[in-house]
Amino acid sequence: MKIAVVGTGYVGLVTGTCFAETGINVTCVDIDETKISKLKSGIIPIYEPGLDQLVLQNVEKGRLHFTTNVRESIEQSELVFIAVGTPPGEDGSADLRHVLEVARQVGRFMTNYLVVVTKSTVPIGTAVKVKAAIQDELQKRGVELDFDVASNPEFLKEGNAIDDFMKPDRIVVGTETEQAQKVLSKLYKPFTLNGHPILFMDVPSAEMTKYAANAMLATKISFINDIANLCELVGADISMVRQGIGSDARIGNKFIYAGAGYGGSCFPKDVKAIIKTAESYGYRLRLLEAVDNINEDQKKILVKKISQHFKNHLEGKTFAVWGLSFKPHTDDMREAPSVVIIKKLIKAGAKVKVYDPVAMHEAQKVFGNTIEYGKDPYDVLIDADALVLITEWPEFRILNYKILEKLLKNKVVFDGRNIYDMAEMTENGFDYYGIGRTNVK
Ligand code: NAD
Repeated sequence: MKIAVVGTGYVGLVTGTCFAETGINVTCVDIDETKISKLKSGIIPIYEPGLDQLVLQNVEKGRLHFTTNVRESIEQSELVFIAVGTPPGEDGSADLRHVLEVARQVGRFMTNYLVVVTKSTVPIGTAVKVKAAIQDELQKRGVELDFDVASNPEFLKEGNAIDDFMKPDRIVVGTETEQAQKVLSKLYKPFTLNGHPILFMDVPSAEMTKYAANAMLATKISFINDIANLCELVGADISMVRQGIGSDARIGNKFIYAGAGYGGSCFPKDVKAIIKTAESYGYRLRLLEAVDNINEDQKKILVKKISQHFKNHLEGKTFAVWGLSFKPHTDDMREAPSVVIIKKLIKAGAKVKVYDPVAMHEAQKVFGNTIEYGKDPYDVLIDADALVLITEWPEFRILNYKILEKLLKNKVVFDGRNIYDMAEMTENGFDYYGIGRTNVK
């Protein structure tokens, strides 16, 4: 089988590479020439554990190809994945510009029966638009060709993408015809052999499943953050409360960690987009409106704590920031809480020195020379007024109190992910601020 994956970002590159790994001939297409030329010369443009090795292996075996030539890749494929970005539009709804552009190209260049699969996260009803765009182009060409549009949302997590793709909790596929279902069944067979389920459903349900999943996960985070904020007021510790509620099997202990808010390229935009979808049907998703608002506030919570500690005098202060990516094991900084926090500190007149194991180049794009970049975690501590932990990379977990004390001007730590032991901090003479934990001060 020969397939094309249009859009070679976090999702497209992982999808293409994992399918190639099963022996399928895959062409990854992108309009970004720099990205494609990097990939052609063996440079992986994103940080994703294990991906570089897998890409190189499959390129070497002749199963994985990279191109900017959309026409050729569509002409030669039996199935096309659309994996381009669906960024938020100005009003928060999903911007389908790239998806529909690819759909038009499919209509322009297809030469035989094709299954067109949206892997991008797209609002309910998008498959109908994709179909119409393809049909439109075919009509312009004056040709009649059979095709199917299917929906196959992606659930991979950045930082664990290969494993998630290879051993999925489930594969969701929305189809309208038996033929499309047969093609997708065959394509995904290698991934389902060890009991990983493939769920076939109608297209709107598949499109909805992706938004409902991300909305549910975002809800868990905003819920625990809201409870964490109350914990501080009533003198409770969210870490204890988390364990207390998480041991109830109906609640479960996953994804209920309080912190500095969720970020990334998915949760914030998908929550906003589903709210907009509901609005367009005259319905208000009140719970998700609250989830979104709570998260916006939560991203500011560390700065609030910092300001309070320094009695609103941040001008001239220096802050050492550990962790910039929206979560560990990725270089992705889209919608990362670090961006909000650092911008606010700078606006208040503070100087910021940062360190992240892999996101420093992304940070350069966001902050340019408005901040200082350290060469290791301890480098940024020199003469800083406080340490601010934003992303819980494993290498930040164990603190060397002696070095910390020696390098920092003040013994103050703001822990945006509750990874440090509050009692140990206090024993070592540090002022410690976590999220939802009763402060020792
Ligand atoms: P990305 O921004 O990393 O990559 C998108 C790629 O599409 C870019 O390289 C861009 O140049 C390319 N592109 C845009 N228009 C194009 C066109 N007309 N032809 C060819 N290429 C084009 O995005 P991503 O993070 O991979 O996300 C892609 C989609 O998958 C989004 O809808 C997202 O919501 C969804 N998704 C993302 C994740 C994730 O963790 N990143 C997980 C699940 C689903």
